[in-house]
Amino acid sequence: MNFPIDKFAHTQTPFYFYDIELLRQTLGEVSHMAEHYDFAVHFAVKANANPRILDEVRSYGLGIDCVSGNEVRAALEHGFDPKKIVYAGVGKADWEINLALDADIECFNVESIPEMEVINELAMAKGKVADIALRINPNVDAHTHQYITTGLEENKFGIGLWEVEAAAAKARELSNINLVGVHFHIGSQITDMGAFQALCTRINGLLRWFEEQKYLISVVNVGGGLGIDYEHPDEVPMPDFKAYFETFAKHLELRDGQKVHFELGRSLVAQCGSLITRVLYVKKGQKKQFAIVDAGMNDLIRPALYHAYHKIENISSSAPVEKYDVVGPVCESSDCFGKEVVLAGAKRGDLIAIRSAGAYGEVMSSRYNLRPFAESRFSE
Ligand SMILES: *Cc1c(COP(=O)(O)O)cnc(C)c1O
Repeated sequence: MNFPIDKFAHTQTPFYFYDIELLRQTLGEVSHMAEHYDFAVHFAVKANANPRILDEVRSYGLGIDCVSGNEVRAALEHGFDPKKIVYAGVGKADWEINLALDADIECFNVESIPEMEVINELAMAKGKVADIALRINPNVDAHTHQYITTGLEENKFGIGLWEVEAAAAKARELSNINLVGVHFHIGSQITDMGAFQALCTRINGLLRWFEEQKYLISVVNVGGGLGIDYEHPDEVPMPDFKAYFETFAKHLELRDGQKVHFELGRSLVAQCGSLITRVLYVKKGQKKQFAIVDAGMNDLIRPALYHAYHKIENISSSAPVEKYDVVGPVCESSDCFGKEVVLAGAKRGDLIAIRSAGAYGEVMSSRYNLRPFAESRFSE
């Protein structure tokens, strides 16, 4: 990526830098491919809720996938059509459900029978009927990191396969909810299309069962989870949306009138974002040297939380490369962005780019150690 280093020279660090052109290319490509297959895409706003990013996403006509009441509120405030807002989450509080009912959102993705009963009760009090989809835990292994696997029986998410029958019967019995769809989400950063193919096989069996039981299922929401290339952000700035959609087009056995929905987060926004930070000190130890930077785990927690890899570059040096542990100022040993990172020779004041940080970066930041929030900057 060509960073506008001159512009960065007088900018307070750390900050998130978003390449709007790459974001637009990605959104353009995903919209184009989705249209080709007649699929609908909702952006998983938990990946990045920056107002500028939301405006760009909306301008491409995508819907929004929310996992909290405030995310629903943010989507409404940014002008998203309520009929393109879906809302999932294992622990929806009453105020959050009421907020979504008042907004007449497209669909609640319901994760348990007790939750279904509460939505029914709250909808009844408002004289409304809420459309719902059952979030079913398909027990499919996404072959990804254990912290971001969600579709196994041991995970807290969704309705187990063994209780789908009871949940569907309950939905039929309750007067103020309307079962319109099924919903799945097996995990994140999935790069093996075989995992999605296994999901399709599971969904096909369920769709057959729903048809036999005379339930009218019009929405098949397959969730998100498409991975990106953290190792090669420049060579592979965009995931292969075609191969991804093709997998579902080929393997899902849809009935007439059924529409496939996707909820993509990371794959839409990860590559357009970088965390830009300055080297404060280079500290030489006996066995290794540290590049101590002014961004910390409070700004980007993925390496500490998931042992996630981010490519790190010294964008202001062309000195011969050396190895550094790139660490932040926070008082935790886990405040480390990368060990033994090969960087152009670093000195105080150099700008460091931590790449592929547009998803689950800014939005997960905190004020730990009472550090201020990093600001955001845009390429245009
Ligand atoms: C997090 C999440 C997504 C998005 O996942 P990505 O891996 O970022 O694509 C989609 N749906 C649900 C229900 C989620 O919780």
